Amino acid sequence: MRFRITLAASLLLAVGCARDSARWYRGNTHTHTLWSDGDAAPELVAEWYVEHDYDFLVLSDHNILSNTQKWFPIIDAPNSRLTTERVDDLIARYGADHVETREVDGKREMRLRTLDELRARYEQPGEFIFIQGEEITDHFNRQPVHINGMNLVDLVKPRGGNSVREVMQNNIDAVIEHGHEHDRPTLAHLNHPNFGWGVSVEDIAHLRGENFFEVYNGHRSVNNYGDTTHPGTEQMWDIALTERLTELHLGPLYGLATDDAHNYHQAPEGHSNPGRGWIMVRAKSLDADSILDAMHRGDFYASSGVMIDRIESNGKKLTIHIQAEPGVAYTTRFLGTRWLPDSDGDGRPEVGPAGEVLDQTMDNPATYTFTGDEVYVRAVIISSKPHPNPFAKGDLEMAWLQPVVRN
Ligand SMILES: [Zn+2]
Ligand SMILES: [Zn+2]
Repeated sequence: MRFRITLAASLLLAVGCARDSARWYRGNTHTHTLWSDGDAAPELVAEWYVEHDYDFLVLSDHNILSNTQKWFPIIDAPNSRLTTERVDDLIARYGADHVETREVDGKREMRLRTLDELRARYEQPGEFIFIQGEEITDHFNRQPVHINGMNLVDLVKPRGGNSVREVMQNNIDAVIEHGHEHDRPTLAHLNHPNFGWGVSVEDIAHLRGENFFEVYNGHRSVNNYGDTTHPGTEQMWDIALTERLTELHLGPLYGLATDDAHNYHQAPEGHSNPGRGWIMVRAKSLDADSILDAMHRGDFYASSGVMIDRIESNGKKLTIHIQAEPGVAYTTRFLGTRWLPDSDGDGRPEVGPAGEVLDQTMDNPATYTFTGDEVYVRAVIISSKPHPNPFAKGDLEMAWLQPVVRN
């Protein structure tokens, strides 16, 4: 069967080009603070990412932007997210001038720092930036539908709809319209589809206008691995990709890893801590436009620990240069769906099983040679190193590369 190199494959080719001035930037696009249901002041959250070598961060609180004046109650009680002790910690860390408190009707409150204030304190050209974002938190009946909007100028309110799919699409459309309205790139990604079993694989397959979803989310309640009656997010990716590319003609679907951290004050065994999953984006410079442009091109990968030096694809081979750590082994699995010969006589090839393991290697670089009958090929790298603070017990560090689409 004949095939041609698609846009995604030729862009991957550009990734490997020596003259390319782009470099990898590490970012987390999904995290929470006291502005919604996180347990830490925004400056503590920001500082965690600055200190852990991230280049960009999206503070994505539920249906709110941190651009207003918000006072948070200081309550000394079990499960309180802001206690006198935590306020004292903030004073010890940042100084008494930094922490603003007041008393209203006998109740103490602390003012939450805004994104502008965080920018002034932490942004450094070429080193660290924030991209303004929001977790647009919507639902249909009892099924949660959460979409992260990135590079927003002001709040995008949940749009609702008459089905899960409509709610999902309405909110994605809202982010796209917001970009047009403000003449800037925006990006929407579908979060944790298995949280509350809210979003089905069929819903994901039908995403239009934007094509991003969380293949890995570090929050403990999101069912990344599915259960006996629901597919895990990786399987969803393969099923949705196959349907999009062979029937729906909606193009590729890209996978992200995110923290969705809510808990900064608990021990590493705590509930939903930072540092579990992130993306590495190959961009020309560290600014929101370049990061979003690269993501829209599919020029990024998702990671829970495994890092990649270089990805090359020339239409014949896909080669992945893994940043190897001493004493750690890496298994690279190439997954994809094949076209099969026409068997029902309708003159069209049949579609093989979704997400077969096409090849597997422990070599570095890991190379896959295309056979010409693939709909797409994507690579997952599984290290022998246990994740230091895993989503689920026994998780190993991994990386998920974006699919190379063939047709
Ligand atoms: Zn969510
Ligand atoms: Zn979230």
